Amino acid sequence: MIDSHAHLAMIEAEARPGVLARAAAAGVTTILVPATGPADLDAVAGLAAEGEGRIVGAVGVHPHEAGRCDAECRRRVERLLQAPGIVALGEIGLDYHYDLSAREDQRRVFAWHLALAREHGVPVVLHHREAWADFLAALDAVPGVRGVAHSFTEGAAGVEEMARRGLWVGISGMVTFRRADNVRAAAREAAPGRLLVETDAPYLAPVPHRGKPNEPAYVRLVLEEVARIRGVDAGALERETDAAFAALFLAGR
Ligand SMILES: [Zn+2]
Repeated sequence: MIDSHAHLAMIEAEARPGVLARAAAAGVTTILVPATGPADLDAVAGLAAEGEGRIVGAVGVHPHEAGRCDAECRRRVERLLQAPGIVALGEIGLDYHYDLSAREDQRRVFAWHLALAREHGVPVVLHHREAWADFLAALDAVPGVRGVAHSFTEGAAGVEEMARRGLWVGISGMVTFRRADNVRAAAREAAPGRLLVETDAPYLAPVPHRGKPNEPAYVRLVLEEVARIRGVDAGALERETDAAFAALFLAGR
């Protein structure tokens, strides 16, 4: 079982051994750790370098941090893309809900990452919130980039848009939230080979841990809920999502 999105770099170093032990005990074999910006790029690279394939990383600048993505930061991202255990660019995208960076900066930095992904042939980890039209437009401007739209909330129609672009969809613990019918619709509709599960730890802890710190071990709760929604056996879904992850992030490495 794979947690395709967990911010281990945001979990305190002293807490990490326990978090990783509980993940292993829950059957988690691989964790993808995305970076969010200049502050955690090196921490993510360090975790990936020492992860022995069980922890892999993505380097990039989250839309919240786009205003801090200067030339030096872009050089660091480009250099770290070659570092051991780094399998993707991310997390990158657009977030007009919090608007923590100017939208113009967000669009420019997102476009830069997508062009870099295409140039190097690496997959991307995508974040989007309340920016759907601009998000699709940015993707369409750089066709052929492979990646996952993580913690997907856009429902069945959104899944269709992602499928048309050859993109994967990541389902988080939100799928267990009472009001998240849009997430459940996405979980139901995604094609088997294009579906990933994730925790987005330390955020978005699934029921019954909602409101508490999230951790990769809880990806089992996400997997079981998605299996229930799809009416399939959890073991079969585990094999499918593991294979979908490997096809996106580990092929050719
Ligand atoms: Zn994230």
